[in-house]
Amino acid sequence: MTVSIALFTADLRVFDNPMLCAAVRGTDEVVPLFVRDPEVDAAGFAAPNRMAFLADCLAALDAALRERGGRLIVRSGDVVREVLDVAAATDASVVHMSSGVTGFARRRARRLRDALGAEQRTLIEHDEVITVIAPGAITPQGSDHFAVFTPYYRRWCDSPLRAVLRPPRSVRVPTVVRSEALPDRTLVTGVSPGLARGGEEQARRRLSGWLQRGITAYEDTHDDLAGDATSRLSPYLHFGALSPVEAVHRASQDGSAGAQAFVRQLAWRDFHHQVLAARPQAAHDDYQPRGDRWQATPEEVQAWREGRTGYPIVDAAMRQLAHEGWMHNRGRLLAASFLTKTLYADWRLGAAHFLDLLVDGDIANNQLNWQWVAGTGTDTRPNRVLNPLTQAQRHDPDGEYVRRWVPELADIPGAAIHQPWRLPGLERARYDYPDPLVDLGEGRLRFLNGRGK
Ligand code: FAD
Repeated sequence: MTVSIALFTADLRVFDNPMLCAAVRGTDEVVPLFVRDPEVDAAGFAAPNRMAFLADCLAALDAALRERGGRLIVRSGDVVREVLDVAAATDASVVHMSSGVTGFARRRARRLRDALGAEQRTLIEHDEVITVIAPGAITPQGSDHFAVFTPYYRRWCDSPLRAVLRPPRSVRVPTVVRSEALPDRTLVTGVSPGLARGGEEQARRRLSGWLQRGITAYEDTHDDLAGDATSRLSPYLHFGALSPVEAVHRASQDGSAGAQAFVRQLAWRDFHHQVLAARPQAAHDDYQPRGDRWQATPEEVQAWREGRTGYPIVDAAMRQLAHEGWMHNRGRLLAASFLTKTLYADWRLGAAHFLDLLVDGDIANNQLNWQWVAGTGTDTRPNRVLNPLTQAQRHDPDGEYVRRWVPELADIPGAAIHQPWRLPGLERARYDYPDPLVDLGEGRLRFLNGRGK
């Protein structure tokens, strides 16, 4: 009797999961295992929105495994100790796991490999499960990663795309192995009221709906804040409830400019993963230090967090984040630019707040997008500043997005909603809404003066 362990991490699915397929193939029984590691909680990464979404994903994974005759084994504790315990109880000789890119994921893999090796067991890591192309699989001459997206994207497009794998037909789990109860979403407190539901079934339904109804127009509509016309697949990709390889395959069948633009965004996801894999310290250190002396006050940063900066478009984005645990990409760009370039606050403060709330909050995408906006990352135009008024006029021309998220201003008609401070005195006084935190001219000046001081 041979037994293997399929150690699930950020790959919570049965469809197109090379890690699971390899674990099932060639053994009599497999232990599909998820370990809730307190190290993740201790690092502050177990934010309520992600914990609730994770509970959905684990429940869906368990259901999918049960349909195939198996079940999910859940444990809490140090991942190495739990895996060794399960391996000893079942006499499993091989553990399969998808390779991750964060410092935590790589440390975990190293510790597991050493501990299993000491017991004559083996860890097999699988690439192209969490990303489309494995980090480090394509590199420019003389470097271990691409620092500029366009040449990366060219090589990414030319790289062979692995085939999509069918889910295993049957999963036989040893009866001896003990599991805790699955985490219960309803027991997680502090969850955003508008949080989406997680799980593979939801992910697949959303992908199919997106391919039928959304993707073709994506090129033209992806920046329309009120239109909300992006895929909203990011949380499913983050937890691996959806395979990015399958998303690329299926989107590519469409052939429209929208589909190409969507696939390009998935390449951005891979791009940030390969940067973080090569520079794990970019999770907290400037990727390219530029001598910034961040100078926003704690009160200004707090006003930004609460969506009370006095710039309705910024506040709308921040309130969407609080309500849904998700924010439109254009909102993320302009809210991050406002914090780092207008208020001139350290990007780490903004990134930490996003990670507290984002259901798709992800070290590679969050930290490196923040650095990109702040000008300390891989952006080739580090001095780019997004003016919130210009952004509002361009991406929310009728003010619908602001009206949705800043209801106290909802009866200001049309684009005037973007500049409530321009209303005549008495009319202005009707609205319980703060004056702008900074004068845009002043904020900009502060940003320019702050550089290299
Ligand atoms: P779509 O527009 O439908 O794009 C499809 C997929 O492509 C997304 O689901 C995502 O996986 C990927 N993608 C799109 N844009 C980017 C990008 N700029 N970088 C990397 N991948 C991208 N994305 C996260 O997944 N997690 C984060 O923590 C995160 N933090 C961000 C912080 C800031 C300051 C900024 C500017 C962007 C951040 N993004 C993050 C990227 C992007 O905003 C989200 O991926 C996107 O808004 C998710 O919505 P969607 O699924 O509808 O995207």
